[in-house]
Amino acid sequence: MGAAQENVALRRRQQQLPLRPAGPLTVKSLLAWYEAERRDLPWRYGPRKAADPYKVWLSEIMLQQTTVKAVVPYFQKFVARWPTIAALAAAPLEEVLQQWAGLGYYSRARNLKACADAVVRDFGGVFPRAEEELLRLPGIGPYTAAAIAAIAFGEKATPVDGNVERVVSRLFAVKQPLPGAKPEIKRLAATLTPQRRAGDFAQAMMDLGAEICTPKRPSCLVCPIQQDCAASAQNLAELLPLKGAKAARPTRHGIAFLVQREDGAVLLRQRPEAGLLGGMLEVPSTPWGEKVPARTEAMRSAPVTTSWVPVPGAVVHVFTHFRLELVVYRALVPLDAGFTLWAEQERCRWVQRRDLHAQALPSVMKKIITHGLADN
Ligand code: SF4
Repeated sequence: MGAAQENVALRRRQQQLPLRPAGPLTVKSLLAWYEAERRDLPWRYGPRKAADPYKVWLSEIMLQQTTVKAVVPYFQKFVARWPTIAALAAAPLEEVLQQWAGLGYYSRARNLKACADAVVRDFGGVFPRAEEELLRLPGIGPYTAAAIAAIAFGEKATPVDGNVERVVSRLFAVKQPLPGAKPEIKRLAATLTPQRRAGDFAQAMMDLGAEICTPKRPSCLVCPIQQDCAASAQNLAELLPLKGAKAARPTRHGIAFLVQREDGAVLLRQRPEAGLLGGMLEVPSTPWGEKVPARTEAMRSAPVTTSWVPVPGAVVHVFTHFRLELVVYRALVPLDAGFTLWAEQERCRWVQRRDLHAQALPSVMKKIITHGLADN
């Protein structure tokens, strides 16, 4: 917030102005703040300007469950390599997965490619502008459809992400806990969305949530809509939104088999297309279950028959719905065909250590390799 705006905010506080119900004036204050204080992000265009739908879509898919800081370099890399949706559609899926590696939630990358293909095939390479049509594209849910419609096309749509959810629940002092309160928060957010500049409004709400109305210690004193905020008036800002009890995250166990060839290459396998980390490369392992598998049972999943050495310690990785704990077994095999790969060998490949960074390897697999080769 600039010094002038800060002074206005402080004057308001000193005058103890009464609570003003959230409405069009809230929107006006927020848009004025956005014009002066918005975050400078590589996919953004100035206020009052329509953005490039390709960049809006790409950034919104990348930002799902990922921070802005982590997304920026990936976004820049993707746009430099594939400047248009047609270029992305023409790229092989494997290359897209490789470039995505490290960003997590890999089904997003697969859907990204499927969506680019669909836009080029069914819409001549031009994104549809209506939320209903956007919703039919792969990987585009209600939030992303509303974000593209509002930000890229100026349609009156209301994207509600975690930031917006927090701002709205505080602005209206919604006391019902999440996730039950979601429909009500969505309804209240939509009551604010203006007919004009819906995209700027959506981005202003996102920025306010990220910069001012933060989860802990919101900066109410410099907030441009403090005069309209019921939670601030009731001293509830830090308590809202209320959250229902979280389900405990279960732990799954397994054994990963890290095979290294005499020339240093590591054996990797491509995961099935569907499901968690679909289509990505992995270090072969047992299925991940509730208990650590017994050694004899585990050996049925070993990719080669050889002498295996357990590596001390374990690899722990936390996914959204479960925590994974893997013990790593390591083996060294000869360069010639002095061993037999098991039945799934068509999904396997040898990758030299120097080439590992260029593979579509999810973070958990990188952790397994690092752990397994730590003293190597
Ligand atoms: Fe959030 Fe405080 Fe602003 Fe209300 S006044 S919207 S709680 S930062």
